Amino acid sequence: MAKRDYYEVLGIKREASQAEIKKAFRALAVKYHPDKNGGDAEAEAKFKEVAEAYEILGDEQKRQMYDRFGHEGLRGAGMHQGFQSSDEVFSHFADIFGDLFGFSGRGGNRGPRRGPDLEYPLTIEFLDAVKGCEREIEVPKHAPCGTCSGSGAKAGTQPQVCGTCRGQGEVIQQAQMFLRIRTACPACGGRGKVIRDPCGSCAGSGRTRVSEKLRVNVPAGIDDGMQLRLSGKGEVGEPGAPAGDLYVTMRVKAHERFQRDGQNVLLRQPIPYVLAALGGELVVPTIDGDETLAIEPGTPSGKVVQMRSKGAPSLNGRGRGDQLVQLVVDVPRKLSGKEEDLLRDLAAAQGVKVRDKGWFQNVFKGFTS
Ligand SMILES: [Zn+2]
Ligand SMILES: [Zn+2]
Repeated sequence: MAKRDYYEVLGIKREASQAEIKKAFRALAVKYHPDKNGGDAEAEAKFKEVAEAYEILGDEQKRQMYDRFGHEGLRGAGMHQGFQSSDEVFSHFADIFGDLFGFSGRGGNRGPRRGPDLEYPLTIEFLDAVKGCEREIEVPKHAPCGTCSGSGAKAGTQPQVCGTCRGQGEVIQQAQMFLRIRTACPACGGRGKVIRDPCGSCAGSGRTRVSEKLRVNVPAGIDDGMQLRLSGKGEVGEPGAPAGDLYVTMRVKAHERFQRDGQNVLLRQPIPYVLAALGGELVVPTIDGDETLAIEPGTPSGKVVQMRSKGAPSLNGRGRGDQLVQLVVDVPRKLSGKEEDLLRDLAAAQGVKVRDKGWFQNVFKGFTS
């Protein structure tokens, strides 16, 4: 039998908005709902037909494919077309039926579970965190089994509504006289469905292990321990339920010179004692490359100089932190003869009593002999 045009099935115009499409589907789903039509086969066929039309037109990507290439195009692209049973419709659109008919799709099913969230630690270099970068990651996770499209049932069969809980997923245990305890149905493990003929590829779980390659855009200014959320990139949900989210946790490697304090970058910079005493200029590294820093005469060791807006960018894109340079006066461990003579003149001028000449050399000899 030739398939009818999906727009005609839902009774909408070709330029209908997503809101109009959803509204049309809900109205028709209520009209042809199997429970309202006493198992009438024609009503069930209509019910499946509107669900199929909505599955395509309710998804912009599939809708575009359909608009351009029609039913054949969808088949060619391997996109899902059609439902075998109204139970399949309920589990596929559990979110919609959930709010249409209160808590229950049919017979009080709690609905398919959303996939769990995943966490992926991503180690990057200090400067890549400050400047932002792009990384490709491979996330090990589950995907719906390709053989059974995630149903877990062998090809040509369908999961059946669980007879023990009648699809409820839970049973009431009569424990005490007045006490009624609800527990997950032991027959179906709370899923509300049982698989009589499990799919050979996935042993009935409906899932296979895969690793998904993803590109992660790490925004400039990110810091160690922060997380990026990739919506819908976590574990796959039960059929009809959305996937969980993926949280990428940043591990930023230490830098040999720089440290982070929020948006500020900290740098401990040795400075020659004559420069600290006399003042002048000093070339220091920044995250943008080398820059010249003015040194005041008489700079004490440990002084912190602020280089404005030379820190990490803020994640909201507004402004940058500062680079804070701690100047540490560098006392030479070894002096040339001329340097020593000049320092001795300085000591004499200041009236400072120092060790006798030759002390450095004597210490050196003492180590080597
Ligand atoms: Zn399978
Ligand atoms: Zn059950």
